[in-house]
Amino acid sequence: YVQKANEYVESVYETVKARNPHQVEFQQAVKEVFASLIPVLEKHPEYMKQSILERIVEPERMISFRVPWLDDEGKIQVNRGYRVQFNSALGPYKGGIRFHPSVNESIIKFLGFEQIFKNALTGQPIGGAKGGADFDPKGKSDAEIMRFTQSFMTELSNYIGPDQDVPAGDIGVGAREIGYMFGQYKKMRGGYQAGVLTGKGVGYGGSLGRKEATGYGTAYFMDAMLKDNGLTIDGCTAIVSGSGNVSIYAMEKMTQLGAKVIACSDSNGYIYDEGGINLTTVKRLKEEGNCRISEYVNEHPQATFHEGCSGIWSLPCDIALPCATQNEIDNEAAKQLVANGVKAVGEGANMPSTLEAIEIFMSHQVLFAPAKAANAGGVAVSALEMAQNSARIAWSFEEVDGKLHQIMQNIYQASIQAAEEYGQPRNLVLGANISGFKKVAAAMISQGV
Ligand code: GLU
Repeated sequence: YVQKANEYVESVYETVKARNPHQVEFQQAVKEVFASLIPVLEKHPEYMKQSILERIVEPERMISFRVPWLDDEGKIQVNRGYRVQFNSALGPYKGGIRFHPSVNESIIKFLGFEQIFKNALTGQPIGGAKGGADFDPKGKSDAEIMRFTQSFMTELSNYIGPDQDVPAGDIGVGAREIGYMFGQYKKMRGGYQAGVLTGKGVGYGGSLGRKEATGYGTAYFMDAMLKDNGLTIDGCTAIVSGSGNVSIYAMEKMTQLGAKVIACSDSNGYIYDEGGINLTTVKRLKEEGNCRISEYVNEHPQATFHEGCSGIWSLPCDIALPCATQNEIDNEAAKQLVANGVKAVGEGANMPSTLEAIEIFMSHQVLFAPAKAANAGGVAVSALEMAQNSARIAWSFEEVDGKLHQIMQNIYQASIQAAEEYGQPRNLVLGANISGFKKVAAAMISQGV
């Protein structure tokens, strides 16, 4: 079946390209997953007979809609909103909402496709989805954010619900936006349904530990991976790109585990602080202040600010955690990291490394933790938030954090075991893709065509 599996994967991939022209990010995500699946298809030809790949690459539903809103000058603005309900084999659709000017059908579909396997890896009963709008929150007033978000939810509310589809945050969507969306959903449906969104404020149904979950989860995953290879985070120098929710809590947990984080960034550039980034300052600037990361140097004159995002990868480090956005580590950046002796790379963002970059890390024996596994902590705790909402209870921070830690260790073990079983020991890209895929494929087959 070796040749058959290859041909099958190749032909479905060609169809994906033909049916989704110009969707380069979506094609990239599919290509990466497909490359991992060849050994699975060789062992399980029934997947080919079931046309599982043809089915899994086609979203169950793709919604796109108009989002009209009034800006502060009273002018009418129009954006485009999306929700892709990609796969519901394992549970209600689940995945974040992204507000960023780069959002288009390709971005939403790559994120939704990744989410299917990531969510499967968490072991929680959640399907895969993603949504967003090509809205730029930068420079918008609080009132504009509210009006836009309400308009977005007015339309989206037709398609979601606690047992149907449960959105959360992503880039540009944090606690404030989730709050406005929750309020609007409540008005549209005329009832309080706590479980319709996750990432809510802890005062009204949110889970303790959700805010920290993605970043902490990435650090827990790195901890498991390093230990398994006879290394520790303690004493390592780390670079963590971004300075949003994922980055901040990845830096916090990495620091608690003994790393020194020397650089982080935003879309304007990066800061370098040799003695270690002061997180209190970053949190004040980014979580409270809506400020640029460049302002960090005003309070810490020993630190330096450098314009442009890619320069951050030229700094020598032991561990690199890309926690900003897709394709932030390209060929060049990967080569620089390798040349400077990086030991481990962990993806806190979704698909932050290009296919070429991953290839470079793997061929140089850099320990590589792919996003589906390494950043699954956020959505895992979202599923715990759903569970608490259904039961009308609230767990302590320690309880949630303990479960998160266990889930991340389980994901590491499952991925390592799958990699071993399918002949590429220690290849976590392969292991995570296979482990997630097999759960979804089995459920799809059980549920019929
Ligand atoms: N946007 C996050 C992710 O990429 C979280 C999704 C969620 O909590 O539903 O996994």
